[in-house]
Amino acid sequence: MSHAQQQPEPYPYLAFLPAGFGRRAPYIVRSRGLNRLHEAAAELLSALTASEKEAWCRLTGQSACRLPVGMEANGQAVPVLVRPDVFLWESAPSQLPLDRRSFFQRDTTKLSDAQLRRHLEQVVRQYLLAAALHERPRSFWLADVEAAYLRHPFLELARQKADVVEAVELMNRSSLLAVLKYPEDIAYWRHRVEIVLRPYRALPEAWRDGLCEHEKELYTTTDKLVCSCTTCAFTVYYHPADGNAELEEEVLMPRAIKRIATIERQLNEIAEQSLDVIDQLRRLQDLKKQLLPFEAELERLSRHKQQLKHPPAVPIVDTYEALIRTTFPTADVQPELHSLAGVHLHDTAVLAIPHDFDGQVESLLDEAFHQYDEQAEKERPKPDDVVFHVKRCKLTQGEKDEIDAFLDMHDFRPSAHQLAKTLAGIPTNKVRSLGLHESPIFGLLQSWPEKQVVKAVHRLFV
Ligand SMILES: [Zn+2]
Repeated sequence: MSHAQQQPEPYPYLAFLPAGFGRRAPYIVRSRGLNRLHEAAAELLSALTASEKEAWCRLTGQSACRLPVGMEANGQAVPVLVRPDVFLWESAPSQLPLDRRSFFQRDTTKLSDAQLRRHLEQVVRQYLLAAALHERPRSFWLADVEAAYLRHPFLELARQKADVVEAVELMNRSSLLAVLKYPEDIAYWRHRVEIVLRPYRALPEAWRDGLCEHEKELYTTTDKLVCSCTTCAFTVYYHPADGNAELEEEVLMPRAIKRIATIERQLNEIAEQSLDVIDQLRRLQDLKKQLLPFEAELERLSRHKQQLKHPPAVPIVDTYEALIRTTFPTADVQPELHSLAGVHLHDTAVLAIPHDFDGQVESLLDEAFHQYDEQAEKERPKPDDVVFHVKRCKLTQGEKDEIDAFLDMHDFRPSAHQLAKTLAGIPTNKVRSLGLHESPIFGLLQSWPEKQVVKAVHRLFV
């Protein structure tokens, strides 16, 4: 005896699934809305082909082709229809949470007969799409989405033009724009860059060479599989019918191809108008090449210069310091985008460097060492310069030198505490055991309050 004969089913084209929380209702509350839904479902589902029906059953986990309907614990049907995604690559759920992932948005009880039929037609199409997708594993489709995405003409263009896009981005931030001609051409170019690069910038870094590594959400629409990453906030649509991918913001390809070529050409034209700047850059490039063999000496000079309070102007060192922060392409600078994108000027003031050290770098380096040594000599502290002054306590450079000389002469270094006791002339046991009470610096600061002696020791000798 079959199940149907035992208990005649009121809605054989509907499958009731427990929704929300609570236990499965033991009965179904029949309603006009359900009658109408069943009638429409029966008409559409009975028209499906045998293989469509079989795929539908495999997707929904039902023994017959039925439209899933959520049923709450009170036996009332949920008035919005169940999304096929709840079954896709999953075993049939035992409970459907009442949220927008599980249910469509349209309340079927509020639709006219014609609207209900149109809605149901779309829902059935979406179920058939999900049923077809369900025939193969999720990973199979994810790979298919990736292949289609990479074949997308804009992705191909973006990968092919990646070097142009990168050069334009670099150039757009380059301080060189401030010196190239003419300001109105530059302003127009930058305005175009904002428009032209928008779709390239919309591609997250992680999506440049394929799908990102994050966990994806895959779900259906009437005719598409949606592949979305919440981390990257990026979505790709896949059409199983033709195997093509679609981007959230589609790009007009012929225009995109033309535009990227145009901004490259426009920048080249700007560079051609500024050949004097190109000449200056080449000169600086040469100058840097002349100086680089002497990098070790120049680095020493630069450190020497930093220790001076008032370093004299030494063009070769100043130029080196400016140029070391400047980057040039390997080949001679050319008036075109890619070459100029390889130029990084820390400050456009370097363009005004007038010096050429051709053939005399070595003698200029000797002279620079000499100039800095002379300045260091001038800045060397005098014996009666006061190096520590708190209240009436003053320590001169001469006294500091005396203490330093004593400390340098000995292998051991007294602790700050021992040194303070020694300078204050307090012969503690430790001071005695180290023999410090017999040293020439013992009691050197005995007229000072001990507190100030400790302060001076910490400031000057620790
Ligand atoms: Zn991602």
